[in-house]
Amino acid sequence: MKGKVIIAGAGPGAVDLITLRAKNALEQADVIIYAGSLVNPEILAFAKKEAEKVNSAGLSLDEVIALTFNAVNAGKNVVRLHTGDPAMYGAISEQMNELDKLKIKYEVIPGVSSVFAAAAAVKAELTMPGITQTAILTRRAGRTPVPEAEDLKKLAANDASIALFLSVADMPGLVADFIEAGRSPETPVAVVYRASWPNQKVVRGTLADISEKIESAGIKRQAIILVGGAIERGGEKSLLYDSGFAHGYRGAKENVKFEGKTAIYAITEKGALKAGEIAGGMTKATVFVPEKFSSQFSTFESFGSQKLGKLIKHNWHDYDAHLFIMATGIAVRKIAPLLEGKTVDPAVVVCDELGNNSISLLSGHIGGANRLASTVAGITGGKAVITTATDTNKLVAFDELAAINGWQVCNPEMIKVFNARLLAGEEMDLMLPEDIFEKKYKDIRGLRLIAGLSEAENPVVTLNCKKSTKQPCLRLFSTGYAIGIGCRRNITVKQIEKAVRTALNTAGLKMDMVRCLASADVKRYEAGLLDFATDYNLLIKFYGKESLNSIVTPHSSPRAEKEFGIKSVAEAAAMLAAGTDKLVLEKQKIDGVTIAIAAVSPEKGDDD
Ligand code: SAH
Repeated sequence: MKGKVIIAGAGPGAVDLITLRAKNALEQADVIIYAGSLVNPEILAFAKKEAEKVNSAGLSLDEVIALTFNAVNAGKNVVRLHTGDPAMYGAISEQMNELDKLKIKYEVIPGVSSVFAAAAAVKAELTMPGITQTAILTRRAGRTPVPEAEDLKKLAANDASIALFLSVADMPGLVADFIEAGRSPETPVAVVYRASWPNQKVVRGTLADISEKIESAGIKRQAIILVGGAIERGGEKSLLYDSGFAHGYRGAKENVKFEGKTAIYAITEKGALKAGEIAGGMTKATVFVPEKFSSQFSTFESFGSQKLGKLIKHNWHDYDAHLFIMATGIAVRKIAPLLEGKTVDPAVVVCDELGNNSISLLSGHIGGANRLASTVAGITGGKAVITTATDTNKLVAFDELAAINGWQVCNPEMIKVFNARLLAGEEMDLMLPEDIFEKKYKDIRGLRLIAGLSEAENPVVTLNCKKSTKQPCLRLFSTGYAIGIGCRRNITVKQIEKAVRTALNTAGLKMDMVRCLASADVKRYEAGLLDFATDYNLLIKFYGKESLNSIVTPHSSPRAEKEFGIKSVAEAAAMLAAGTDKLVLEKQKIDGVTIAIAAVSPEKGDDD
């Protein structure tokens, strides 16, 4: 007999917001295909232990359908689990069309959509009498276009409540659309991040100030935006409800949020729950838990008991940061053999399993551990424990300055010297972009801006020396790097990520110093490459055959020449994008991906 297929809504996140019907379906399921990071792993615990749980994030439509087809024919029950309600941006029609073709029957179970969890969080009646009797559920165009007639500039030209999915990444653009539609800047707006999750955040404001508030709160995705007079209720206009939020907001205002790729390790059940909560609030985090919890937390990676040390060693340079949800002693002993120095070691933070204290342990400034500790404390509502002297004295250390601006330190041996002078209030001259000096150093005794910087120069901190180059100085390098990439067809995003990271490591560079990616025109539709650029929010530039062939490169690529008539992809693209004729790293072939790196010349970088 054939198995059943059920397309079900998992609800917005909180385990007890799934419907009883969907829960029953999960209990009966043999195969569960769930949609990535927005389905709470605790919900998967309703399933049988032996049920197969597959994250659809890494699968194409064809793969999802093939998996479903095979399972059903083997008599297995399949649940395709979507966040919220499947009817809203669930991409279920394409799946249902394929199932229809294969004559596979299915049922759809509704769920509580995140839009309603968001309305509940702000206690709004979207159809408030006297204001509006209409709610519009929509999104702004992203990778999926929105039909022109439904452009927000047109849709919003009335007093309806408007709820937006998938649109928080560009708040200034969204606000501009509302204003163009004729809405007043005073119109109330509420943004709800991860509605109903433990780390839910609510930010209230108006069209006039919401962009800034969202930026300070560090919200970039996984949020519902509610706009309109119905959102505001007497007295609650500018309340920030959530205590976790208030904390995170204050934290985020002072410290820039940590956005690097983070590995989170937990060794207990409570720790794993906390790790999930923290990962949910971060941009790029992977959670690792012992194998014995793998069925309970099936969205996490697992490792064999006794294998934690090995895993950390393996992950060490593949991640920008490592967060340990365990005792400090365990973490210290595990990382001790791996330490090299403050300019190369990744950030290390330790957090107790209740999230009360997040301790910045290693690479506080350049590595970003202080920022990570604050980010984690913002999510858990706990305290960030930071011990670097400059920070405790409320000073921005020069290596921290470099890290938050994505600058490199040319002579790291001088960091200590100059930070010590900063702490001691000794006199120093700075060459920095003026706005940065104003914000960070203007009121600090002893410091003087001797020259604002044009983009063509790099920042320098010197002793009072009238710019004599003989004096000791701390040189920072603000130019970013262009990464040239050549790859074979159907390369995965993982392969590209690994290759880029390996190459950066070899060159002694970090991910946040990358300004852009570059490749050949023929790679314009290479999904793995595009996804990598999106994941890291990097501009990617494609060059045609003629431009590439006009560059003299150290190596040529016989394969690209034979296939596309292009002499070199990675090296030529990196040099073109960087506007330079030198490479920082000549081409490296890493698992099917070719990488070359060039430093972007300040005047000549191809920045359009
Ligand atoms: N079917 C889902 C929506 C999927 S599209 C639903 O009905 O909720 C994904 C978008 O939904 C996200 O970009 C975000 O805008 C929104 N979203 C999903 N879960 C959310 C949550 N818990 N809190 C806030 N927004 C959420």
